Amino acid sequence: MAFHDGTSPLNEPSHQLSDDARGYYTLGEPLVDPVAPTGPIKDRWTQRKFDNRLVNPANRRKMSVIIVGTGLAGGAAAATLGEAGYHVKSFCYQDSPRRAHSIAAQGGINAAKNYKEDGDSVFRLFYDTVKGGDYRSRESNVYRLAEVSANIIDQCVAQGVPFARDYGGLLDNRSFGGVQVSRTFYARGQTGQQLLIGAYQAMERQVAAGTVEQFTRHEMLELIVVDGKARGIIARDLVTGAIETHLADAVVLASGGYGNVFYLSTNAMGSNVTATWRAHRKGAYMANPCYTQIHPTCIPVAGEHQSKLTLMSESLRNDGRIWVPKNAEDCTKDPRDIPEEDRDYYLERLYPSFGNLVPRDIASRQAKNMCDEGRGVGPMVGDFRRGVYLDFAEAIDRLGEDAVREKYDNLFDMYERITGENPYQVPMRIYPAVHYVMGGLWVDYHLQSNIPGLFVTGEANFSDHGANRLGASALMQGLADGYFVLPNTIRDYLADTPKLTKIDETHPAVVEAQASVEDRVTKFLTINGTRSADSFHKELGQIMWEFCGMERSEEGLRKAIDMIRELKAEFWTNLKVLGTADSLNQSLEKAGRVADFIELGELMCVDALNRRESCGGHFRAESQTEDGEALRDDSEFAYVAAWEFGGEDAQPVLHKEDLIYTAIEMKQRSYK
Ligand SMILES: Cc1cc2nc3c(=O)[nH]c(=O)nc-3n(C[C@H](O)[C@H](O)[C@H](O)COP(=O)(O)OP(=O)(O)OC[C@H]3O[C@@H](n4cnc5c(N)ncnc54)[C@H](O)[C@@H]3O)c2cc1C
Repeated sequence: MAFHDGTSPLNEPSHQLSDDARGYYTLGEPLVDPVAPTGPIKDRWTQRKFDNRLVNPANRRKMSVIIVGTGLAGGAAAATLGEAGYHVKSFCYQDSPRRAHSIAAQGGINAAKNYKEDGDSVFRLFYDTVKGGDYRSRESNVYRLAEVSANIIDQCVAQGVPFARDYGGLLDNRSFGGVQVSRTFYARGQTGQQLLIGAYQAMERQVAAGTVEQFTRHEMLELIVVDGKARGIIARDLVTGAIETHLADAVVLASGGYGNVFYLSTNAMGSNVTATWRAHRKGAYMANPCYTQIHPTCIPVAGEHQSKLTLMSESLRNDGRIWVPKNAEDCTKDPRDIPEEDRDYYLERLYPSFGNLVPRDIASRQAKNMCDEGRGVGPMVGDFRRGVYLDFAEAIDRLGEDAVREKYDNLFDMYERITGENPYQVPMRIYPAVHYVMGGLWVDYHLQSNIPGLFVTGEANFSDHGANRLGASALMQGLADGYFVLPNTIRDYLADTPKLTKIDETHPAVVEAQASVEDRVTKFLTINGTRSADSFHKELGQIMWEFCGMERSEEGLRKAIDMIRELKAEFWTNLKVLGTADSLNQSLEKAGRVADFIELGELMCVDALNRRESCGGHFRAESQTEDGEALRDDSEFAYVAAWEFGGEDAQPVLHKEDLIYTAIEMKQRSYK
């Protein structure tokens, strides 16, 4: 790995010749990050923090910020901005901020502390993340993420987050995929929960202090834009059904990811795209929507009526060995009866340097390949077996069952409760499932979208993970954004607050936003068709998984777009929503979310169709090496695809932001 300081470009802008998505989009102006920093990469963030304007504490009290989301990204931001003295309004649709999806995160959070003295550094975390993302992320953002990673751990320890410690009392680390160092901090298999409790406590302190106002069971259904600037939201009180207007000087969306567009995913059941999609329809660009992460270690689908998939944390790949039988005829045997010489530890065979710790995209694709070859295990679902073994027998022999239990007990218990099999005795069965989205609203270096005053943090933005996120990096990003980045960038915007137009609920833009939400709610309730929103969602998910899932092709994506358009037409004529608007009505909530998922699904397919290359989680059948690995095409696609909403039933507009590297040379990824 050559070290470059970041002062001169190492690649040329790409030039796209292919045009698979012609007819589905129009080409817009190129996009440039207006606040992209320059100079030596290690100084960029320090310099920017210094250059950004300050707001004096007495003025902060007069400034207001709406934050949609109370997961790690939103909770951390609310706590920090509240502590700084701004007036914060915090929203979530759950009954408590503590139920945000972040609570589900199991495995850990990365930080370049180098406690193990195994060669880690800020530059190595930066390098691993850009390489892991298949050179499709912005290097300045990723370097900043690596730089602040160490502060996150200090902050959380100070809050009392009970990270695992070694015998001597130092914080312990483990390894995650795509890296050769141990930099993942963890709290057994409940890291997200412990981190969220830390952020929640910090936020509640501000609630008590009066700087943060909390609105639970409120769903944002529209963004208010006045004179081109984000000035508020329309939210529905999910208990009373009241449609409320909330105004502020700036709006932050920390609303999480949209993996549930696939219906079956490891995301919380409520995770959805509505907050960001509504903002997209109001002008915010949606970047790289097709970049989806399919996680290799999930409990396989067991039948037709399932509505949720469960993750088995990637941390298990530290000690578990992944294999399938060498011979298809052994697939129905008890795995304990298959001798060593008849097992294919295929990741160790194909990628000897990284073995079972290859990045997620690679591990997922190889699991699919093994099952496609007819060597999958477990029950038949449809016409083939979707499962590979994750085996702890060797680790139990080496470390003892107690040591394995100490590291992973809640994960093993969860597996046993769901499958009825004891993983201390029988290998776990796992299969890839949708888990995370790298796509999200486009943001600049300040995490501001192209709508001034609209900031986007955490999984809801596109910024740091390129085409594939490394394990334990989402928690790092959410907390980096919330505790350290946003508070330093939003103040530069808020410094201009006195120049903002004074508005109230009678402003025409506010009235229009409120009316549009009311009309939409009425529409859902009066279509009076025969199908539930859930049945549309399930059908959408099947289309997305089949044609825009682990492998995508030109033919399949075209077919998917046609199918989604038909589904959309049926949705708006044959939807049935029971109940009324003025009470708790989960069918109504679901209808709005599914309507947005359908539109997002189409854009994801158009984005995937346009990108005729394979990179990270985006595998185009037309672009692979002779041995079936993803083949990236930097000459045509080294850009961020930022999509502008083109209008109702009109084509989306594609803006391309070139990815120019100055600190890392782009290389074809290899983990062999
Ligand atoms: C099972 C699982 C395990 C994971 N494990 C790890 C791990 O070990 N390490 C790691 O780094 N990453 C992990 N991830 C990924 C990580 O958990 C998420 O990317 C991250 O928690 C997202 O945080 P967030 O704050 O951006 O959003 P979320 O935690 O999803 O929070 C979203 C918030 O937005 C609110 N919201 C959304 N829409 C609206 C709306 N319209 N109106 C009002 N409120 C709204 C919600 O109420 C919620 O409060 C895991 C993911 C899964 C699915």
